[in-house]
Amino acid sequence: MSFICLSLTGRTLQENIEDVRRYTSHIDLIELRADFLFTEEIPHIHRFPALVPHPVLLTIRRKQDGGKYIASEKERSSFFSIAMRGAFDYVDFETDFEHTLLTEIVREKKIRIIRSVHDFDGVPEHPLQTIRSIPKTKQEIPKLAVMTNSSSELYRLVEACLSVRNEEKIVLGMGAYGFPTRVLAPRLGNYLTFCSPAGKSAAPGHIDPQQLDAVYRLRSQTGSTAVYGVIGNPVLHSQSPFIHNTGYEKASIDAVYVPFQVDELIWFFKMAELLDVQGLSVTVPYKENVIQWLDDSAETVTVTGACNTMARSDKGWYGYNFDVEGFLHPLETVVDRQWLQGKKVAVIGAGGAAKSVVFALTKRGADVCIFNRTVEKAERLAKRFSCAFAPLTDTERLKEYSDMLVQTTTVGMAMGSSPTGSHPVGDTPTGQHSPGTYPEGLNPIEDYTFQGHEIAYDLIYTPEKTPFLQKAEHAGCRIINGTSMLLEQAKQQFLIFTGVHYPES
Ligand code: NAP
Repeated sequence: MSFICLSLTGRTLQENIEDVRRYTSHIDLIELRADFLFTEEIPHIHRFPALVPHPVLLTIRRKQDGGKYIASEKERSSFFSIAMRGAFDYVDFETDFEHTLLTEIVREKKIRIIRSVHDFDGVPEHPLQTIRSIPKTKQEIPKLAVMTNSSSELYRLVEACLSVRNEEKIVLGMGAYGFPTRVLAPRLGNYLTFCSPAGKSAAPGHIDPQQLDAVYRLRSQTGSTAVYGVIGNPVLHSQSPFIHNTGYEKASIDAVYVPFQVDELIWFFKMAELLDVQGLSVTVPYKENVIQWLDDSAETVTVTGACNTMARSDKGWYGYNFDVEGFLHPLETVVDRQWLQGKKVAVIGAGGAAKSVVFALTKRGADVCIFNRTVEKAERLAKRFSCAFAPLTDTERLKEYSDMLVQTTTVGMAMGSSPTGSHPVGDTPTGQHSPGTYPEGLNPIEDYTFQGHEIAYDLIYTPEKTPFLQKAEHAGCRIINGTSMLLEQAKQQFLIFTGVHYPES
């Protein structure tokens, strides 16, 4: 079992107490980050443990270790001494922190010491050596927190972590690439995993306790919980973890689904072996590249040249493409099955998703023209499915193929970093805009004027309405976004992964 530890970064003790109240049922432990407190609060920190219902870890993090504390070590030691009058259960001392008297007090009071090392540059070449070099007595728990900058760094970290899986320790990868280490704490044998109140992230990659507990079900995970996930880049905005993990919960399946940000597939698949990953959803930009990792595949993968699902079998990875059915399903809620026959349809984009879309459309008898920024890619795809192609800028041609326009590029997709289903945060195109004003560069066919008769279908689901869809809706068009497609193909993946249907409730 791994504990859920809420890092508190309020400026006052009262603010922290309120954050604890918000999440109290989702947490096991609290970290008081005293380096965030106003100076006048410091003399009172010893009172804090008595004011909250969970064991408390005291941390006064220095700036060089990613904290806010900038005064002298002497002063920090005296803050620690004042605090030790209170009933703290844990205290964080960096490996280079030496204070004999304080250490003696801590030992006598049987307060456990988290011995920490932080590295914001990246994962060390030999992380296991670093973990082994951290002091580890019965009272001490070694902690290594490192910025994880790539799939190869994550592989190294996971490998090191698993080789000390049965020892008490905390090994965490910070940042988007390191995110799996936070939600797979039980699998990696981590003593605890940190999280923050929503909107108050104490470290790169923290999510809020409600997501850790209710979405990733950290408390019910064990070392043998089956691991599934989605690979892509970017991927932390994906809603798939929310969809799949909710399904596991409802169907009482011992499994967890994790977003893996990937820059090099070779390192990801090496790590997937270590974690025994059982199934994967595949998203931008890997739908085509993953095919070389497949040992066998369904016909839809061969015909389209794109794969959006990988499942482990006795013979290795088996690939599927559920985008085809997933794409058609929502369309059938707007028009009948025969509607596509003979219709002139523009497909914007020629990437992995476009392959499935063009295949689905031509199979249903539509007359398709592919428009892409890189015209050669449009041409290659058009040859494969015997249809027309044109540059993205050819608005006259777009008008000709305007019974339906299907937007399959990544343009307009939010790139934020909310890891589980909620809309991304930051300066991403999540907002709606007043009619006629749309952010530039977020609509791949900016110069096209919708007439109102078109069906506009955007595969993107975050944001709910891209500038492409907003413009179409404003002109009176029927619009479809990518949410239903996502849900439909996720249901099919769920069945393949678990052998049971996605719970209807
Ligand atoms: P991909 O293989 O990486 O293809 C990206 C496409 O976007 C290419 O055609 C590319 O054109 C085009 N593109 C990228 N940046 C552009 C720009 N600045 N201007 C014009 N065109 C640009 O990605 P994918 O796997 O096909 O996915 C595409 C989108 O579909 C993503 O947003 C994904 O989330 C969404 N999708 C949704 C679902 C769902 O279930 N709702 C399923 C599948 C995909 P070039 O060839 O010129 O580079």
